[in-house]
Amino acid sequence: MKKAKNILTTNNVAWCVLGLAIILMIVALILIFTRHGANTSGEITTDEDRRSIVVVSSGDTLSKLLTDQGFSDAQVLEIAQVLKSDADITGLRADSDKIEFVRTDSQSPVSKIVIIPSPWRQIEVTSTTDGGWQCKTVEIQPDKRAVYRSGEILDGDSFYLAGARAGIPDAILAEVYDLLAFEMDFERDVRAGQKFYVLYEENFANGKKVDNGNVLAVQFEALRGNVKMYRFKKSDGKTGYYDENGNGAIKSLKRTPINNAKITSSFSNRRKHPVLGYTRAHKGVDFRASTGTPIPAAGAGRVVARGYNSGHGNYIKLRHNSSFETLYAHMSRFAKGVVVGTTVKQGQTIGYVGSTGLSTGPHLHYEIIKDGKHVNPMTVKLPAISNLGQADKEKFLEYRKTLDAGIEQLSQHPDWFIQL
Ligand SMILES: [Zn+2]
Repeated sequence: MKKAKNILTTNNVAWCVLGLAIILMIVALILIFTRHGANTSGEITTDEDRRSIVVVSSGDTLSKLLTDQGFSDAQVLEIAQVLKSDADITGLRADSDKIEFVRTDSQSPVSKIVIIPSPWRQIEVTSTTDGGWQCKTVEIQPDKRAVYRSGEILDGDSFYLAGARAGIPDAILAEVYDLLAFEMDFERDVRAGQKFYVLYEENFANGKKVDNGNVLAVQFEALRGNVKMYRFKKSDGKTGYYDENGNGAIKSLKRTPINNAKITSSFSNRRKHPVLGYTRAHKGVDFRASTGTPIPAAGAGRVVARGYNSGHGNYIKLRHNSSFETLYAHMSRFAKGVVVGTTVKQGQTIGYVGSTGLSTGPHLHYEIIKDGKHVNPMTVKLPAISNLGQADKEKFLEYRKTLDAGIEQLSQHPDWFIQL
């Protein structure tokens, strides 16, 4: 188990040497039980006489629940004080917190109270020999599993539809979309017959799935070539996504600022303007989206212009570095606090879709300007945010080989998982 964990945390060099052994370990550790027959050994057997679990509902207070269990007013007060001073717990949240009462046998008073505010944290209050109460917080480490989902684009499909059909959860799919959007134009690169896969983490507690973790790897057979990305932790502890050669996959700008928005007009040097009627260049890309849809900054940068003109309507221009600028037009309104001079992060909302200026309907008109010249956002070569140093790159390439071997196994047995 420990070896398998090292595969993905890559915090030492040992596995460079152990690469081959680790591949064997992975194969061994892709445990043959299916997801449905999940391992529940290690789960504490619930003895109904000794333990009772209450899901806190509205109107429940700690003192009411404790009184129901037979605690005296003085005990209730003491337990409340211990919880406040040692765990900073002053109340219970209805429909979310759980509280468990434990007795040594069915006739005894409660000797332990466990408050469960999240699957990953428990506060245990236990009685002491002198009749008092003490409290400790227990962090629960998720049991992480890497699961594999693959799919294929069908006729008339979108990546979202195909991904959902493949059983990829919405939140994971949104992350995958965000990642792929650095490399792909979903309008033009996606065709029926293309295959894709995603490897991502599922977090388990006591044999039960609680939530999803990170996207570990993704591949899409796009029209312009295979797009592959891997999550990797560098020696400085920072994680990022890299292509199969170890180049940074996260680019300084996104080609498609709004996820899953349909392109209604592409970049061209000549097109017939839908409002003006005559032919003129379209120096950006139009994405259809409803009024009020948040517009995220395509990259980190600084607001250099925010205003209105008859063509662009409400627009914002960002400067990202010495060569790149982006422009967002036809906004219904600007995001609060985003003014000229504001520094924005990649993905931060700068305004909202609208139809101001010369526009036939709500959409985002998006431009990328490189060294003062408009370029096609879908094809311009974009710089990576971070690349790997030599030592990290070597580690990455070893790691990638190991992970690919695991993925190969999973592709043949999609119900298996890798115990991380
Ligand atoms: Zn436009």
